Amino acid sequence: MLGICKDEGREIGRTTPQAKLEGGLYIVATAIGNAGDITLRAIETLNRVDVVACEDTRVTGRFLKRHGIDAAFVAYHEHNAARARPKLLSRLGRGEAVALVSDAGTPLISDPGYRLVGACIEAGIGVTFVPGPSAALAALVLSGLPTDRFYFGGFLPTRQAARVRALKPLAALAASLIFFESPRRLPAALGDLADILGDRPAAVARELTKKFEEVRRASLSQLCAHYRDEGPPKGEVVIVVAPPAKTGAATVTAIEGAELDQRLGAALAEASLRDAVAAVTEATGLPRGKVYQRALALTGKAGAGGGGA
Ligand code: SAM
Repeated sequence: MLGICKDEGREIGRTTPQAKLEGGLYIVATAIGNAGDITLRAIETLNRVDVVACEDTRVTGRFLKRHGIDAAFVAYHEHNAARARPKLLSRLGRGEAVALVSDAGTPLISDPGYRLVGACIEAGIGVTFVPGPSAALAALVLSGLPTDRFYFGGFLPTRQAARVRALKPLAALAASLIFFESPRRLPAALGDLADILGDRPAAVARELTKKFEEVRRASLSQLCAHYRDEGPPKGEVVIVVAPPAKTGAATVTAIEGAELDQRLGAALAEASLRDAVAAVTEATGLPRGKVYQRALALTGKAGAGGGGA
C-alpha cells in the first residue's frame, strides 16, 4: 500500500516534521466546513508529502495552518489543469509524493482531479486515497430519505431548458437523488425537480458541519414555495430527493409521523378532506387508508363515520 499504514505500529497523526512519504499521488479529503473534520492520516500525509496540489492556495493555506501543517503548494484547478497536470506528472515521475486536495471535502467529487488520477494510472504511478467528508454523503445521511440506493447528479445545469433535459431521464430511477446547487438557483431548481419528478419528499441540507447547519425536510413543492417566499438561503446547499413512491417501504418510513401531519395540515388548510388526502397520498406514496385515518384524527372527525372520502 502506498503511504501511511496504521499497522506500521507507530504513532499516527503527529504534526511534527517526519520523513517524506514514498512517491505517488495522495488524494486527501479535507473538511466541508468544520475544520475539525480531518483525519489523523490526512494530517500526517499532508505533513509528509513533497507538495500539495490545491484549487486555491489561500484557502488550503489557511486550513493547513490551523492544523500546524507547513507544506509547499502548487495550484491545480479547472482553469490551469491542462498546463499544471504535465508538471505534476513529471514531479511524480521523479519519485515525488504529491497530495491533491480541493477547497472542501473530497477531491474529484464535483472538483478537479479525475484526469490527474487517470494519467497517473496510465503512467504506472501509485495512487492512494485518504478518505474523509463529502457534502453529498453528509446531506444524504441527514435527509431522512432512503440510503440503500442513491444517485449523485453533481451540479444541475444552470439554464432551465438544460436542467429539465437532465432531469427527465432520472424520473424513473429507483434511488434517492443528490444534487449540488447554488443557493441563488435553489428555488428554480426545486420547482423544476417538482415538475419533472413529481412532488416527492425531499431535503435541502445547508451549511453542513458549520454553525448554521440546517436540514429542511418537506415535499419539493413545499421547499420550492419556502425558498421563493423567503428568498435564496445563505451558504452552501445540497438537495436530496426521495425515490419514486413505488420503490419501497423505506420512502414510506421517511415521511411518517410529524412530517405526515405537517403535509396533511398544509393540504387541509387549502383543500377539502377528500382532496387533501388524495394530494398527500399521491405525493408520499403512503397507503390511502393510512393517510385518511390520520386526516380524520387531525380534523377531529375520527369515529364520526366519515368513511366516504
Ligand atoms: N468536493 C466537495 C465535497 O466532496 O463535498 C464538493 C465540492 S463542490 C465544488 C461544492 C458544492 O458542494 C457546494 O456548492 C454545495 O452544493 C456542496 N457543499 C460543500 N460544502 C457544503 C456544506 N458544508 N454544506 C452544504 N453543502 C455543501
